[in-house]
Amino acid sequence: MPTDSAVDGLAAALRGRLLRPADAGYDDARRVWNGLIDRRPALIARCADASDVIHAVDFARRQGLRVAVRGGGHNVAGFGTCDGGLVIDLSPMDTVTVDPAAREARAGGGATWGAFDAATQAHGLATTGGLVSTTGVGGLTLSGGIGWLMRRHGLAVDNLLAVELVTADGRLLRASLEENPDLFWAIRGGGGNFGIVTSFTFRLHPVGPTIYGGAIFYPIDRARELLRFYGDWVRTVPDDLTTMVVFLTAPPMPFIPPALQGTPMIAVPMCYAGPPDNGAAVVQPLRDFATPAVDVVGPMPYLALQTMFDAGAPRGLLAYWKTEYLQALSADAIDTLVRHADRMTSPLTQLHIHHLGGAVSRAAAGSTALSYRGAPFVLNGVAGWMDPAQTESEIAWARGLAEAIRPLAAGPQYLNFLGDEEDGRVRAAYGEDTYRRLARLKAAYDPENFFRLNQNIRPG
Ligand code: FAD
Repeated sequence: MPTDSAVDGLAAALRGRLLRPADAGYDDARRVWNGLIDRRPALIARCADASDVIHAVDFARRQGLRVAVRGGGHNVAGFGTCDGGLVIDLSPMDTVTVDPAAREARAGGGATWGAFDAATQAHGLATTGGLVSTTGVGGLTLSGGIGWLMRRHGLAVDNLLAVELVTADGRLLRASLEENPDLFWAIRGGGGNFGIVTSFTFRLHPVGPTIYGGAIFYPIDRARELLRFYGDWVRTVPDDLTTMVVFLTAPPMPFIPPALQGTPMIAVPMCYAGPPDNGAAVVQPLRDFATPAVDVVGPMPYLALQTMFDAGAPRGLLAYWKTEYLQALSADAIDTLVRHADRMTSPLTQLHIHHLGGAVSRAAAGSTALSYRGAPFVLNGVAGWMDPAQTESEIAWARGLAEAIRPLAAGPQYLNFLGDEEDGRVRAAYGEDTYRRLARLKAAYDPENFFRLNQNIRPG
């Protein structure tokens, strides 16, 4: 542990606050979104700007402290906190500025998608961002970033134009296609392995403020038919339409009839990002497939869609996820999914199937480190519960789903949904060639693996 005077020195150097275990606010600040993660860092540096980040990095390096970097704190494996080390908390760096003429936005390293969307929608602009407004721009973008605009505009990472980041040796670098292009390639998919991004510059697109979206719900006994229909239908839809399928317990929301609240259902949430007037015709085949039990799809503000899932993902929820890519909704896959959905017991546990394709799959091979783009679906078994007594059974549910679906899966996994898995999974997620290139760059920019609380790439 560093001496008191060394810690006082860091506190004095920071513009933001340094929290120690005895300080008011420490207990809340040590926690992340996933309530299952219960770690006690020695220090939490709430950084106000890039120079605070440099001070914190230099301090941790000199003192030999392990470092956890926190953006929005949503990583399900809890990479945004640690036991005994230094948390570099970027959440005060949440400013988003928009250049509407250039169609670009700059977001601080700790900004959330809620702040990003609010700032950009003021100009009728947006880029692909997370489905929950409290998720961090940082973690989500650096490992991909799926969202409602992805089939039209690519993943969040595909819209990244430049970053400023602090490297393990405390330098502030700029990376883009023109400056440090190798580093720029690596961070676009390489997660937090290469440094702490203090500023992200994104390309924006005209979106909304009204889009055609929402969710259509069917009774759970239509699940098999729906998945069969859905697997075929999504092959025909335009890139402006991004959809997913969710097995869930119907929430106690005013738009769900009281008799259906608390019952298992299957829903298709969606966003049509083209002209709202064309949305109904695009969605009609889904309505024709079977009469929806609840239909709340129509013109709505893009900002409302971007907060539609917030209530189902409160901070402190106990969470455990398992993910796989799927090449098809085959009969075997449908059978496996429906059987495991039947075994969901917590009302906060859900099973998500995101439809990818479109611009996600069109990114030029090797243009970013997020190399795997081929699968049309990504599955996420999202176990969520409040009562610690359910921990064992909920984790067992997610693991059971993953084991059953793995023989049918496409191979690698989507890094943003991955828990704290064994090393082989991270390597497989990139593929051998990409991983080796990343490992070489890691050796150049972070030879001591200073940034290792992440989906880790070993220096090689
Ligand atoms: P953190 O836990 O703060 O950070 C995650 C990782 O990124 C850590 O390793 C951290 O060190 C690193 N990191 C964060 N910020 C920076 C930075 N500025 N510089 C360098 N490294 C950084 N994923 C999707 O793709 N689409 C979704 O719609 C989506 N929805 C989600 C909804 C919920 C409720 C949750 C819990 C997660 C969701 N995810 C989604 C997954 C999400 O992308 C990952 O959990 C991601 O890691 C969250 O980023 P964060 O900044 O909030 O997390």
